[in-house]
Amino acid sequence: MESTLKRTWAEIDLDALENNYRKLRGHVGDGVKFLGVVKADAYGHGSVMVSRKLQELGADYLAVSSIDEAMELRLNHITMPILILGHTPREQVERLIAYDITQAVTCEAKAVEYSEEARKAGGTLKIHIKVDTGMSRLGYLCEGEHFDTGVEGICHACSMEGLEVEGIFTHFAVSDEPGEECRAYTEHQFELFCKVIDEAEERMKDNNFHFAIRHCANTGAVARYPQTYLDMVRPGLLLYGYGEFAEELGLLPVMTLKSTISTIKIYPAGTKISYGGIFETSKTTRVGVIPYGYADGFFRCLSNKCRIMTKQGLADQLGKICMDMSMIDLTDKPAVDVGSEVEIFGKNNSLNELAALAGTIPYELTCAVSKRVPRSYYCHGEMVEKELMLRM
Ligand SMILES: *Cc1c(COP(=O)(O)O)cnc(C)c1O
Repeated sequence: MESTLKRTWAEIDLDALENNYRKLRGHVGDGVKFLGVVKADAYGHGSVMVSRKLQELGADYLAVSSIDEAMELRLNHITMPILILGHTPREQVERLIAYDITQAVTCEAKAVEYSEEARKAGGTLKIHIKVDTGMSRLGYLCEGEHFDTGVEGICHACSMEGLEVEGIFTHFAVSDEPGEECRAYTEHQFELFCKVIDEAEERMKDNNFHFAIRHCANTGAVARYPQTYLDMVRPGLLLYGYGEFAEELGLLPVMTLKSTISTIKIYPAGTKISYGGIFETSKTTRVGVIPYGYADGFFRCLSNKCRIMTKQGLADQLGKICMDMSMIDLTDKPAVDVGSEVEIFGKNNSLNELAALAGTIPYELTCAVSKRVPRSYYCHGEMVEKELMLRM
């Protein structure tokens, strides 16, 4: 652990996470529950530590994508409700019940499977119904001609033995995209979602059935569509402080990815740097090597395009990014020396900009920070935990 800590590491600022949680809670207002999306190891930030903090702060729910992710949290003493957004094989239903994990139910076939398994186990599986209103991924199809069969399927699931329907949700496809067309699409998705809920509750009114937790607001909707908050919001990216809406909401980046200069050399003009020789020095150039490459999560498509922050400002990255290393131009940065810290992205070097430069979204860059990169967690400015995900 100590051996790799000063190579390249990710500082996870739990105070920034707390700030973001509180700001978002204030933004959505009282009476709206808060689900923190911590799938994919909390977008690369470390789901156990992030969940621990959210639990301490009083968040209402967590969401992950698989039973393995849910179990990791349960085995690390996360006791708050956890929703699995993806599919769980029927053989695992008993475990879901035993560990009090909530499962999304996305179609008739899954509802039947889960009900059968829950009855076999002699227990009750808590579920949230997923409605497909236009994302065209998971969920009961309810658009147009499918409305009737969709609602019927949902009502059927609500009546199945072994299933306890706690909530219903849908997912927006373009709530974070600009333009009138995307606004109309999102509003249509929301209207359809509300119509499905109304119709299902109407058909089940003899049982006085109501969905206790109706939710749909992801990051884009939390930022731009307050009418969609319903009973609970469900942001991921915003919680971590990235994306175009983060700044206006007063959110802070939770991850700062840092590295150190491991070697510096001075080359004459006409020297080709790294694989393929795509960069050639035009003058005497002082080149630093940082132990951060595509195996750590750097994107090779950023080769010769991006900039790394040093204590003397931004340094151009030079030549092809390698598996374990990349080179930067330190010619006019004499105070940056071997051992100096640099910031790849974070508080002083915008992740949003780096993502745009790579032709992708910030999500992909934090998720890509590999298991070789230790995460160190900070609370009130002090390191409270270090995590390396290698088997040792
Ligand atoms: C990932 C995910 C979210 C969170 O999305 P953000 O854009 O990060 O807010 C919410 N809901 C579902 C179903 C998801 O899969």
